[in-house]
Amino acid sequence: MASIELRNVSKQFKDMYAIKHIDLTIEDGSFTVLVGPSGCGKSTTLRMIAGLERQSEGDIYINDRLVNDVSAADRGVAMVFQNYALYPTMTVRQNIEFGLINNKVEKAKRNALIEEISEIVSLDGYMDRMPSELSGGQRQRVALARAMVKKPDVFILDEPLSNLDAKLRVKMRLELIKLHQKLQTTFIYVTHDQIEAMSMGTKIVLMNEGKIMQESTPAEMYDFPENLFSAQFIGSPPMNIRTIDQVGPLFETMDPDVAYMGFRPEGAHLTKVYSHKDAVQFSGYIESAEVLGSEIIYSLCGGSGELIFVKSFDKKHTLNGNVWVEIPRENLVFFNANGD
Ligand code: ADP
Repeated sequence: MASIELRNVSKQFKDMYAIKHIDLTIEDGSFTVLVGPSGCGKSTTLRMIAGLERQSEGDIYINDRLVNDVSAADRGVAMVFQNYALYPTMTVRQNIEFGLINNKVEKAKRNALIEEISEIVSLDGYMDRMPSELSGGQRQRVALARAMVKKPDVFILDEPLSNLDAKLRVKMRLELIKLHQKLQTTFIYVTHDQIEAMSMGTKIVLMNEGKIMQESTPAEMYDFPENLFSAQFIGSPPMNIRTIDQVGPLFETMDPDVAYMGFRPEGAHLTKVYSHKDAVQFSGYIESAEVLGSEIIYSLCGGSGELIFVKSFDKKHTLNGNVWVEIPRENLVFFNANGD
């Protein structure tokens, strides 16, 4: 078990800042997901925590111990990579055992550890197979087992599911959530996939251009985005954003600094009649409709030509029709001119 703290940490590669003065606390036992677009600095952050990369500025603490000068091997951190990094000429057992032999763990203890861990990750029937004889999901489990036998305080997982097909990815997500619940250890998980982040994390750290844009639970990030970046990165389709100029004055009592309003696709509904409830309305033109089982996603062209998504259970609206888009006040989120 371990908590991690980054204080004013930066990382510079030549004259480029990959990480710009971030402060981050990762709570003991949490499943913390770092998410953000490619190149935003997620892997660099992980590598600095693991001790594979040295920060240019700032301090890193693991369990209140300053680890700036502690080697990767002595940080109590185990890392699982997206390409699994298995040894192809070794069996599953040898792959798992390798690090233990290197650490001079005696045979009886090695066997006990391997037995315990292979059962947790359901590999007990596969110990004599070669990596080439395993499915992608099983290889992923070997990589996990290899990290787990070290009994680390922190697991660091860098896009571990990105090489799996969509169906297996969903299954492995659940397995990882269960594994985290069983081990009760701190997990730090990196992904560029916001759906993966939302479904797995107890806490999400959203990054962009070397900075932290928002840190919160998945539900808070969805319902209360702190800035336009967060509003548009999380959610599929993304939150609709309109400038106040496009919509005109909304309500009598409104903060004069408000420059943008946002609403989730499911926070609006379509109506044929203009009503005057405590809601914002504007006209739109239905351009396409995508049926997703019980729900439907309408794509509309708003008054100023912009694209608007509305998600609904109501499938009766027809294409190429004019409708009112109505958003109850409680479903609106507001941002100032800086996007905050
Ligand atoms: P992410 O994991 O979010 O995709 P990275 O942490 O890998 O992002 O990279 C952040 C930025 O730092 C990128 O612009 C990347 O090109 C740069 N970068 C990462 N590692 C190095 C390196 N070893 N040398 C130079 N630039 C690097």
